[in-house]
Amino acid sequence: MTMQHICILGSTGSIGENTIDVISRHPDRLSVYALSAYSRMEKLAAQAIQTHAKVVVVPSNAAKQQFLQSWPANSSATQPEIRVGSQALADTAADSAVTTVMAAIVGAAGLPSALAAAKAGKRILLANKEALVAAGSLFMQAVHDNKAELLPIDSEHNAIFQCLPQETQADGAHQAAHGVRRLLLTASGGPFRETPLEALAHVTPEQACAHPNWQMGQKISVDSATMLNKGLEVIEAHWLFAMPPERIQVLIHPQSVVHSMVEYHDGSVLAQLGQPDMRTPIAYGLGYPERLQSGVGLLDLAALGRLDFHLPDMQRFPCLQLALNALKAGQRACIALNAANEVAVAAFLARKVAFKDIAGIIDTALDQSQAEGGNDAPATLDEVLALDAQARLHAEHACQHMGAAAR
Ligand code: NAD
Ligand code: MG
Repeated sequence: MTMQHICILGSTGSIGENTIDVISRHPDRLSVYALSAYSRMEKLAAQAIQTHAKVVVVPSNAAKQQFLQSWPANSSATQPEIRVGSQALADTAADSAVTTVMAAIVGAAGLPSALAAAKAGKRILLANKEALVAAGSLFMQAVHDNKAELLPIDSEHNAIFQCLPQETQADGAHQAAHGVRRLLLTASGGPFRETPLEALAHVTPEQACAHPNWQMGQKISVDSATMLNKGLEVIEAHWLFAMPPERIQVLIHPQSVVHSMVEYHDGSVLAQLGQPDMRTPIAYGLGYPERLQSGVGLLDLAALGRLDFHLPDMQRFPCLQLALNALKAGQRACIALNAANEVAVAAFLARKVAFKDIAGIIDTALDQSQAEGGNDAPATLDEVLALDAQARLHAEHACQHMGAAAR
């Protein structure tokens, strides 16, 4: 296998760190070309030294100064080229020196750079699910037109990818001919799976971020607690695998060992199992079609003893229902859902609104985006970003309203 030169978009995050961990185990075939981060410049500098990155991308000149100040005076490592701003981020993802892009920025902010990687025909390891939720058709079209190679990193989608016939992994159009009937998407149910419903009104950001099985960034941790995350993942699966919404089933599976399943017409169900550790799907994406050591321990099924499954309770998890509704309503609704959720989660983490307000804020923004009309799917990145910005305004408004009501 030839050497891969990797650009990690969002290297200082949870997925970014796990990616560096896997890369560092394979110096003979994986090398870091570029790293990017939005904050925590000391951490970015330490990563650049560890990985010998040639380029780092930072958001502003102020961040560049922080990066330079974080660079140890006595370091013998060569300082990377420092690129600044969002255009530099997209250009770096498309850089001719890059073979592989790990898209691990959180939120719709990761869309332009992930799309640039698709347009440049890269191997894309996609962790940033919000990019597909906001711009599924645009993104998949760019992958197809430019012969990019798309490997899902979200553990559920990576599991499904592994359980699909190879001929349909990259192009869902032929699944029916291969006997694929449904996708079964598992969900842990998050930290509030069994919390009494009345107690949900008072849960704190700390409780919401304490996921029982996975160590993740704050935003996706809150999304797991509301189960909006699973809604985003249904939308993601719809685009990745060209699967109609009614053939995607969500199942609560508290142990997070079965990462997802594919059901076939003959009654077979294929599942991918493993420890809840993102280094497994990351190593799969980096090594594909070979298997690489990831540093993840083996699964001890006898020690686990049992695996449970049940259907989600939509009363407990209204955000999941909102996401399923948005998928049926179309691309504009999906953009509004995602944007409003990002605003609502940030407001919850800042203690400006309550956990239970998140669903209400999304609902309000969805109603407003519907009222604005227009049914055509946005055809360009600019249209997507304009709809995203509009929905954020509605959601900010709803947050202020709810915050004021709470006081
Ligand atoms: P994180 O918050 O830990 O890290 C986010 C990274 O993105 C950081 O490097 C940060 O500097 C960068 N970033 C944040 N805002 C940015 C902006 N506006 N512009 C450019 N860069 C920005 O998040 P994470 O948990 O690593 O998740 C990253 C993505 O992967 C998310 O889309 C998430 O849904 C997805 N994902 C994560 C996990 C997981 O286990 N953490 C699992 C599945 C999918
Ligand atoms: Mg997931």
